[in-house]
Amino acid sequence: MYDITIIGAGVAGLTAAIYARRANKKVLVLEEKVCGGQIVETETIENYPASPSISGPELAKNIYAQARSFNPDFEYDKVEKIEEETDGFKIITDFDEYKTKTIIVAVGTDYRHLNLENEDALIGHGVSFCATCDGSLYKDKEVAVFGGGNSALYSALYLSNLAKKVTLIHRRNEFRADAALVEKIKNKSNVEFELEKVVEKLNMENKSLSSITLKDVKNGEEKELKISALFVEIGRVPTGNKIVENLVELDEDGYIKAGEDGKTSNPRIFAAGDCRAKSLRQIVTAAADGASSASSAINFLNQ
Ligand code: NAP
Repeated sequence: MYDITIIGAGVAGLTAAIYARRANKKVLVLEEKVCGGQIVETETIENYPASPSISGPELAKNIYAQARSFNPDFEYDKVEKIEEETDGFKIITDFDEYKTKTIIVAVGTDYRHLNLENEDALIGHGVSFCATCDGSLYKDKEVAVFGGGNSALYSALYLSNLAKKVTLIHRRNEFRADAALVEKIKNKSNVEFELEKVVEKLNMENKSLSSITLKDVKNGEEKELKISALFVEIGRVPTGNKIVENLVELDEDGYIKAGEDGKTSNPRIFAAGDCRAKSLRQIVTAAADGASSASSAINFLNQ
C-alpha cells in the first residue's frame, strides 16, 4: 500500500514526489506518456527563477533527475479507473492495480481541438498541436499558427526560424500572450498577422492539408490561405480529470476545485498544477502546487 500516489509526472507531480519522499512517505508516480509534462514541448523558458533561459526538455530533465534521486517508484501506465475503498483507493491501470492511502492528481491539460471537419484525418498530415515536435517537417514552407496566448506566440517564434513564412491567426486584435513575447514576434520579418479571424475550414488534398479557410469575425468574409501546416494553439482543456470526476468536485470547465493547499472535496485526494481550478498556469505555480499538495497529503497521513 502506497502512502501517496501521484498521477502525472509533469512539473507539479515531480515536485510533489520530491516533497513526499523527503517526508519519508512511500510514493508511487504514475505517468502515461513522458515525464516533464507540457514543458517538454516548450523550446525556451525565460520565466522560471534561477534559469534565465533554458529549454523545456532540459528543465524537465533536471526536475525529473532531482525527483528520481529521492527514489519514488515510477510506473509508466495509463490510469483507467480509481475505486474508493475504506482506507484509500485501488488504482486500476492498463497493466496493473495499485493500492494507495492518498492521491495527488497532477494530470495537467490537453490540447483544445478545433472540432472542424477533416481535423482528425489531418493530424500528422498538416495539422499539428506541437511546433517544437513537428516544426522541422516544414522547413522553408509557409505555415500558420492559430491562437493568441503564450503557446501560440512561442510556437510562431520557433517556426519563424524554420519556415519561410508564418501567419499568426487570432480571433481578437489583442494578444493574451506576455507583452515581451508579442514584441519579439512583431519584430520578425517573416511573420504576418491575420487578426480578428478564425479558422473556418481545413481543406484537404491527397490526404494532406492544402489550405485553410479563414473567416473574418466582424463581417463574416471568408478567404483561403494556402499553407503546408497549421499549428493549433487555442488553449487547453482538462480532459485528464475524467478519472476523478466521480470522486472530487470539478468546476463548470472540468478543472478540479481545490485551494492553494491542493485540498479537494475528497479528504484523501489532492490536486496540483494545471488540472486545478486556478488563475495562473505557469511552471512556477505548478511547482508551488506540487509542494503544497504534497504537504497537505503528508499532514493528512500524519494526523
Ligand atoms: P491560453 O493562454 O488560454 O490562450 C489560448 C488562446 O487561444 C487565446 O488567445 C484564446 O483567445 C484562443 N482561443 C481559445 N479558444 C479558442 C477557440 N475556440 N477558437 C479560437 N481561439 C481560441 O492558452 P495557452 O497559450 O495554451 O497557454 C496555457 C497556459 O500556459 C497559459 O497560462 C500560458 O500563460 C501558459 N504558458 C506559459 C508559457 C511561458 O510562460 N513560457 C508558455 C506557454 C504557455 P482569446 O485571447 O480571445 O481568449
